[in-house]
Amino acid sequence: MKKKLAGVGIPMTDPNQPMRPPAKMPYKRIATEEAWVTPEVMQGFRDLVAKKAGDAGFLSMWGVFIEKGGILIDRLLDMGENRIMDMDATGIDTQLLLLTAPGVQVFSKGKAKSLAADSNDQLVEAIRRYPKRFAGLAAVAPQDPAAAAKELERGLKLGLKGAVINSHTMGEYLDKPKFWEIFEAAESLNTPIYIHPQTPSPDMVMPFVRRGLDTAIMGFGVEVALHSLGIIVSGALDRFPDLKIVIGHGGEGLPYWLYRIDYMQEYNRQAFMPKLKMLPSDYMKRNFYITTSGMPWAPAITMAQSVLGMDRVLYAMDYPYQYRVEEVIMTDNFPISVANKKKLFQKNAEKVFSL
Ligand code: CA
Repeated sequence: MKKKLAGVGIPMTDPNQPMRPPAKMPYKRIATEEAWVTPEVMQGFRDLVAKKAGDAGFLSMWGVFIEKGGILIDRLLDMGENRIMDMDATGIDTQLLLLTAPGVQVFSKGKAKSLAADSNDQLVEAIRRYPKRFAGLAAVAPQDPAAAAKELERGLKLGLKGAVINSHTMGEYLDKPKFWEIFEAAESLNTPIYIHPQTPSPDMVMPFVRRGLDTAIMGFGVEVALHSLGIIVSGALDRFPDLKIVIGHGGEGLPYWLYRIDYMQEYNRQAFMPKLKMLPSDYMKRNFYITTSGMPWAPAITMAQSVLGMDRVLYAMDYPYQYRVEEVIMTDNFPISVANKKKLFQKNAEKVFSL
């Protein structure tokens, strides 16, 4: 007998008009930024919140989730039948699973490394139980870049498909050369790094926190846009030309901004920054893939497809944070050809994540 979690089911716009799962289409629906958490990492989050020990962004985000989040946290923790039922209810064939933000990046180095390895072992076990329904990315602890590179390699050997890094690590970004061992490993292993948001780093989070804008409403997007552009202007992608980086939420605003970023990049370049071999938009088109997590909005996504190319945009739902059947239907209805929808929902994910 399947245990159904209280409250689990499709959130309905109108309770008198229950939404049905979207119709079958001539493509698989692979959702590429789906969140989960282990009991151990969740306990770590609870301990930090109880002790008020994390940074202001973390305490704001997880303070709210822990206070509000019965169903949300149940869904993050569930790696069994309830998650599968939720996927079936929204027509999702496969979830690519990412340890939820901020992952292990808020813990001390030793704890972060052991929690990353343990999370990856638990994820591999869940994928073994549902090999057609689940795939996943390895959690790594950038606090120790050499160990993170090794853990990525170990994760790939166990069948994981890349790494997830939840943006800044205690205020530091991957544009610092001390982290580039991770880039070197990902490039040589031909595997992507998904830069998932967390709340903005301590130097910029407070104006967001004071306005309640620090999480998914805007803070996440600003954080990952800064992180991604930081990597571009650091010159890292001239050093690692084959590195693959994935970002979510329609590309965190960057596709929209590319003209002005290109126009201003050389003009605004400070003496301490390297001269780039290409325009920022060239790196976006060569090294970046974006997903539609939380952004099933045709104007933004078709614009991103036109700027970056049809092969660079992948579907994601952002379960359980934006778990709505309407979002899948909105994406099914994008004004693009069925062949391009197959790229969006299936083919691009299969290629980027070697599924
Ligand atoms: Ca997410």
